[in-house]
Amino acid sequence: MDLLKECAGAESIGISTHIRPDGDAVGSSMALYLYLKKQCPNAEIKLFMETPPDCFRYLKYFGDIDSAYAYDKPFDVFFVLDTVPDRLGEAEKFFDCAKKKINIDHHISNKNGCGDVNVVLPEIGSTSEVLYGLLDEAYLDTDIAVALYTGIIHDTGVFQYSNTTPQTMRVAARLMEFDFPFFKIIEESFYQKTYRQNQILGRALMESIRFMDGRCIVSCVDKSMMQFYDVKPADLDGIVNQLRNIKGVNCAVFLYETGLMEYKVSMRSDEMVDVSKVAAYFGGGGHMRAAGCTMKGTVHDVINNLSLHIEKQLKEKEVCTTES
Ligand code: 5GP
Ligand code: MN
Repeated sequence: MDLLKECAGAESIGISTHIRPDGDAVGSSMALYLYLKKQCPNAEIKLFMETPPDCFRYLKYFGDIDSAYAYDKPFDVFFVLDTVPDRLGEAEKFFDCAKKKINIDHHISNKNGCGDVNVVLPEIGSTSEVLYGLLDEAYLDTDIAVALYTGIIHDTGVFQYSNTTPQTMRVAARLMEFDFPFFKIIEESFYQKTYRQNQILGRALMESIRFMDGRCIVSCVDKSMMQFYDVKPADLDGIVNQLRNIKGVNCAVFLYETGLMEYKVSMRSDEMVDVSKVAAYFGGGGHMRAAGCTMKGTVHDVINNLSLHIEKQLKEKEVCTTES
């Protein structure tokens, strides 16, 4: 896809990403916003998403993000980044009536893309890395590099997860040439947590339960706990990764209560479990080793239903390993 050709002549361009935006969602959509602002000076360009966590405030034009979704005309071009439309939240209304829809993503659960033009590459670790491949090198600048770098480090766990490739490192190296304090970005947007975030992390770890001989672990945070520690859902990011880091654990499940008998599920795994399949079964999606969904029922129902699928995969893998 030639990004600028697709936008040629457009008078209005909208960009949005998934609800509860994470580093890749914020980084990729901000990078595209910065790029188009410079390259399409005659177009009105709008960037919509739920208010991102404060740790991303260093991004240039962070204040331009419209979380009120205030726009009342159909966009000539509308970009959906790092998701499919059903997780756009309020921005779905812009997608529905846009004249041209462009989908840029890397989720394996996004089978065919939802746009008139689609670039969906599940083998690439972040939407930011996918987007880098679509931008003209000659038009990159420091602000765009910072936004893309942010997305890449968040979705690869600072180059730790198996979705990191030699090309990821080449892209990151190229971006670092723009000479920004990458170490500060890693520290402040990825590793640093507030005191309250750490407290609830500690509580979630303390109350976690292991099953299947310690190969699976689950922890749940309910609304009263969130109120007690005065935290929002975004403050819970990272808990599931800590659960997954425990020796012997193949699959970690973290739940938090979103409504009456409703839970948001986050799963992380190693090569023993494909959590994107588990999440897809319950109407969610994601990647092989990081996926999520929303489920109804009591916390016990949710855990029982998920664990059936996880155990099935673990048992199938066991059979394969003993047979080979
Ligand atoms: P997280 O556990 O960090 O919320 O999400 C892990 C991965 O799964 C991310 O790539 C995220 O976009 C995806 N994901 C999480 N929840 C859902 C969901 O409800 N539906 C879909 N399609 N993807 C999800
Ligand atoms: Mn992503």
